[in-house]
Amino acid sequence: MQGKRSLGQNFLVDANVAAKIVECLQIHPTETILEIGPGNGVLTALLLQRAHKVLALEKDRVLAGEIKRRWPELGVVNGDALGFHWGRLEGRVSGIVGNLPYNVASPIMWDLARQAPFLCRLVFTVQKEVAQRVAARPCRKEYGGLSVWMQSFLRVYYVFEMSRNVFRPRPKVSSAVLRLEPHPVAELPAFPDNLSRLIKLCFQNRRKQLGRILRTHWSPGLEEWLRGQGLDQRSRPEELSPFQFVDLSTKLTV
Ligand code: SAM
Repeated sequence: MQGKRSLGQNFLVDANVAAKIVECLQIHPTETILEIGPGNGVLTALLLQRAHKVLALEKDRVLAGEIKRRWPELGVVNGDALGFHWGRLEGRVSGIVGNLPYNVASPIMWDLARQAPFLCRLVFTVQKEVAQRVAARPCRKEYGGLSVWMQSFLRVYYVFEMSRNVFRPRPKVSSAVLRLEPHPVAELPAFPDNLSRLIKLCFQNRRKQLGRILRTHWSPGLEEWLRGQGLDQRSRPEELSPFQFVDLSTKLTV
């Protein structure tokens, strides 16, 4: 089976794995589900059996046309998930699923995390190393900006790994499935733009100490906050939990 490399087209060919992925979404028959990158429809077919309505967002014009012809009841958008205006889906979609193209999986997930207030469940297949970074705990080597950002909005479950042999063409890397569930609205970051800037500032300097990274923002209040958290100027970004980053983003503007 041919696939366009530029669109990360590695198609799932294992029916058991497809069923396992869809199972993770725990679809209720009244729900509407959005699939990102349906490709030739291995997950779509299962979604259509379980959900009330299925929407599909596919960048490849040819594939989008083919699945629409095959399943006229499918709501197909021929568009790009990168930069997609997710707010359009507010109140319409309960779950989002996708075997995401490897090259754009992180920015798509980063963008979607901000939509947590109106999302229910997300299930994504991504490169194993990316899944490990999303799920990583503080002080682990995989822990970084993506972990903090995603875990600030969503509870992350690393569900299972799959071999590269379940895709055609076979990718060079292994994959893993993540299930993501938004935190209650009251616990979501109040200043997401500031949080995003803070995370980027800190993790582009992850080996540096907080005292140096935040030198221009230093204040007695910040010092006190750090002390209250059991941290100090010599602490490094990787020691702060996502919750601490969210809290810090309310105390200082970067
Ligand atoms: N869901 C299918 C499967 O499991 O076999 C296909 C998965 S394939 C890894 C990724 C799919 O995403 C392809 O169909 C590709 O055309 C589509 N795609 C790639 N980039 C995209 C983007 N930016 N927005 C939407 N779809 C995209």
